[in-house]
Amino acid sequence: MTSGNDWVAIVHTKYLAGRPIALLFDYDGTLTPIVSHPALALLSEPVRGHIRQLADKERVSVGVISGRPLNDVSRMVRLDGVYYAGSSGAEVNLCGIRLEWPVSLEVQRQLEAILAELRAALPDFPGVWIEPKPVGFTVHYRGVPTSTASIFGSCFRWIIGRYRGLRSLNICAAFEVTPVEAWDKGTAVRLILAKLPPDVIPVYFGDSENDRPGMLASQAAGGLTIAIGDTAPNCAMYRVESAAAFQTDLSRLCEALITSRDRVLAHSDELAVAK
Ligand SMILES: [Mg+2]
Repeated sequence: MTSGNDWVAIVHTKYLAGRPIALLFDYDGTLTPIVSHPALALLSEPVRGHIRQLADKERVSVGVISGRPLNDVSRMVRLDGVYYAGSSGAEVNLCGIRLEWPVSLEVQRQLEAILAELRAALPDFPGVWIEPKPVGFTVHYRGVPTSTASIFGSCFRWIIGRYRGLRSLNICAAFEVTPVEAWDKGTAVRLILAKLPPDVIPVYFGDSENDRPGMLASQAAGGLTIAIGDTAPNCAMYRVESAAAFQTDLSRLCEALITSRDRVLAHSDELAVAK
């Protein structure tokens, strides 16, 4: 893994060489800093502006691939012309084409059974809450004292260990539960890339272990992967210190792909006029 900002220069160079670019962003911890409650993780207007500019740019496509439900992440970003994936890849919106991993009756029964078990245990763990999703759910324990969180973690692992059809990842003080067979962020990356030119270069940005499949799919397609913060998967090729630092890099990327090129064109026009 390489620290530093040279990934911006690499993406810029490939763009100038004529390659289409697909910028694929995780949401929480990547486009926004991690905050005390997911509802408070609002996209800043400068970041929304950068994404809008990039999505509007010729030969640049943008996707937001989140662990949140698809409708939730779409509402948080509020931009047209962007590919969206929710439930960590199990639901996708390919600019108007919606696809969802089909939950079987057996998996649905397992999800309902474990949710009933967990809800029965919740009164013993104040501050723990469950976020249902169309495919799976997330159990949040952010803000719960460390000692309680540790005991809850043991309880949760004991419960989910008995459900062979389900898997969980511990992400940002939350357990993300999905069916073992469900589409993941790697599936979402492949579905998005299938809509784009074959020589597109994916660039994937993520901060958590559920971004690993998305990163591996991007690397398999000849792309770049950028870890945000120190909890990101170790398979990433480059690392940015934090979501706050990434906002600076995103601004630089926008400058490189859009403004600087416009300046070149403007400069060419000035030279033409001078002649
Ligand atoms: Mg994240």
